[in-house]
Amino acid sequence: MSASPTPPAGDSSPEALAATLDPARRSWVPSANAPDTDFPIQNLPFCVFRRDGEAPRVGVAIGEEIVDVSAALARGLLHGEALPAAEACRESTLNALMALGRLPARALRTQLSELLRAGGPGEELRATLAPALLVSQHAVELLLPATVGDYTDFYASVHHATNVGRMFRPDNPLLPNYKWVPIGYHGRASSLVVSGTPVHRPEGQRKGPNDAEPSVGPSRSLDYELEVAAWVGPGNALGTTIPLAEADAHLFGLSLLNDWSARDLQAWEYQPLGPFLAKNFASTVSPFIVTLDALEPFRAPIAARADGDPAPLPYLDDGHDRARGGFALTLEVWLCTARMRTGGEPAVRLSRGSFLDLYWSMGQMLTHHASNGCNLRPGDVLGSGTVSGAKSGTQGCLLELTKRAAEPITLPNGETRGFLQDGDEVVLTGYAEAPGAVRIGFGRCAGVVR
Ligand code: MN
Repeated sequence: MSASPTPPAGDSSPEALAATLDPARRSWVPSANAPDTDFPIQNLPFCVFRRDGEAPRVGVAIGEEIVDVSAALARGLLHGEALPAAEACRESTLNALMALGRLPARALRTQLSELLRAGGPGEELRATLAPALLVSQHAVELLLPATVGDYTDFYASVHHATNVGRMFRPDNPLLPNYKWVPIGYHGRASSLVVSGTPVHRPEGQRKGPNDAEPSVGPSRSLDYELEVAAWVGPGNALGTTIPLAEADAHLFGLSLLNDWSARDLQAWEYQPLGPFLAKNFASTVSPFIVTLDALEPFRAPIAARADGDPAPLPYLDDGHDRARGGFALTLEVWLCTARMRTGGEPAVRLSRGSFLDLYWSMGQMLTHHASNGCNLRPGDVLGSGTVSGAKSGTQGCLLELTKRAAEPITLPNGETRGFLQDGDEVVLTGYAEAPGAVRIGFGRCAGVVR
């Protein structure tokens, strides 16, 4: 089938990018114009999806639909500067696209925006195009969008670090290195799973403060951690570094991340080398990657350092990062227990926090990671660490919200939770809002405890 279409315009120029973010822009895909959609035409996040029995394909979310990028390429709708990125989307993961860098991916995004906008060339061909190009998000399986070679988890919220430190070390909650060095540990890439994958309660060694010896069994303190995942775009060669001024060029985009944590295993095993089996049994990521281009209107400074705190060392300080290193995201955690599902009750929101409430920016974390010459690769995941604020109701895990189960939460149906029970579903959501911009969202990052 050939539609002999007029190819849409769109390149990587600042003007073309600005046009994709124009709040007046609407799509001929009706669901993209719903006021509460996470995926208006201003977003266009990348994903990988699979129809029944077919190979995985790269897509871009629009409203309730996904654009099949290879189908658009095959119909001659992507051309010129967008061609390299469109060809990279023939792969079954996003790694090849991530490796190309910001400008090729931007050219592809601007052409797709032109194709999908109301009043553009795509609308003229809507009747012939839509069946070949669009697939419902509800009719496909969404996959992990990239092959993740390495996953690193940071600890960038000073509020989380202080609250947790106080429980483990009441006299010495925040260790002296915290305000100098972005703290992180190497996580496990093999157990990163996509939203919707059930999470099995881990077994392990548990030893309470009054136990003479540890015992082995299912974790009694299973928790979630509300985090943001940054996906690495182009990497750096072993032995080279990434200056902070260039960090944005190495970040492909952001997703939501739930760093499931077994607190009893963690308390017993974490010294002296840090998290291990308490963390690596599962980490859930949301399937849609919101690009830095789509997040452009939501860049902002991260929270100011307190008076008396040290200034970042020179390699972690940059004017652009100081002014725009943060992302104005609102992040929420929702819980639905098995009993709530059976009773038809809606999920309840446990917390709402801001991604600007961090001590270190994603750029500072990326630059620090490569500062010793460690090579980052396309598709690597950098977790932000649990996003918690200073105020009540902004804490991004149960450990903090319930003070290690000492102050359990009472749910609307009378159930209580100190930590997670089997059958509990945890859903993370996130969205970006700013004056003069259309709200964009991240979709869901969900998992049920088995
Ligand atoms: Mn974590």
